[in-house]
Amino acid sequence: MLTAGFLYTCALFLAGLAFGSFLNVCITRIPRDESVVRPGSHCRACGAPIRWWHNVPVLGFLVLRGRCRDCGSPISLRYPAVEVLTAVVFAACYPWFGPTWMTLKFCVFGFLLVGLIFMDAETGLLPHEFTYPGIVLGLAFAWVAPGDSSGTWLLLLLFQKHVENVRALALLDSAAGALVGAAFFYFAWAVYWLVRKRHGLGFGDVALIAMTGAFLGLKLNLVVLVCGPILTLMYAIVLLIREAVRPRPTVPTDEGLAASTVSTETLAHGREVVASAQPESPQAAAPRQTETMGDADAAPDYEEEPPFLQRELPFGVFLGICALGTIFFGEAAWAWYLGRFHSSVLAMVQSYEGAHLRVRH
Ligand SMILES: [Zn+2]
Repeated sequence: MLTAGFLYTCALFLAGLAFGSFLNVCITRIPRDESVVRPGSHCRACGAPIRWWHNVPVLGFLVLRGRCRDCGSPISLRYPAVEVLTAVVFAACYPWFGPTWMTLKFCVFGFLLVGLIFMDAETGLLPHEFTYPGIVLGLAFAWVAPGDSSGTWLLLLLFQKHVENVRALALLDSAAGALVGAAFFYFAWAVYWLVRKRHGLGFGDVALIAMTGAFLGLKLNLVVLVCGPILTLMYAIVLLIREAVRPRPTVPTDEGLAASTVSTETLAHGREVVASAQPESPQAAAPRQTETMGDADAAPDYEEEPPFLQRELPFGVFLGICALGTIFFGEAAWAWYLGRFHSSVLAMVQSYEGAHLRVRH
């Protein structure tokens, strides 16, 4: 039987496909500083415009069998993947949050997160075109759709303070989530800089955690703050194992050795330099490398893989994945953690839930 809830979920799925399609344009163009409006969709290889019926989300990709109709060059699987992922996130919001502002809030948040995950994965950039408006939207949605603000409520309780207005408390909680997240990363970045004299995080990561904090609030952003680094560490361990089992190349020549030092040094200057060198043409990237090397003749060898941990770990990707999971399972993660280790704190949180009118549902 077709219930209204099922129809809404389907409608959100279709909307997700459409927004995912637009997101693909953003992912391809924003890191390259291109307009997302003009020109219309075209093949990145041959420049031929894409017919509207081939631009239908997922179906267009299937009809074309993943190849450009004009030049036959392959279309990245990223296109249908982003469309389906956005659609799934949108559709999942309805059963979770019902016909409330919360559904809209987390659709917007999911849209931004999927975009940032893929942009970071492809270019190593977390463009502020997404993160800064994200922070503002997160704060605005806290006022419009106040959620669970128990993190800030508990914090205020420690100082014997109360905020009675549910919206004001939610806005405070959103700001607290953003500030605590950003401060924590900024502190980690500063320590790393002092110890190793190079960037461990990009500024994009700081903006991203501020954005997730603004949307999720203080309590749930702590889940992202803990799980993001754990997931990145697990990925690093996988890379380390892969590195260990890979057969060693023979002793490098002097030239090869020099080249690898150069690429390491370029990487050491952080995500911004490396990332900005990628989408541009080699000629545009060249002057910056000359700066770091001081020798115009030696060409850096990007084919050579830099040694482990000198390579950038896509931290933003893992933060984004954790934030997506936290939308749906953050509360469950907290309940599990508190129930397991801190039943007394759980009792306090439950007293909050009882004391305040629940706006959700
Ligand atoms: Zn083409």
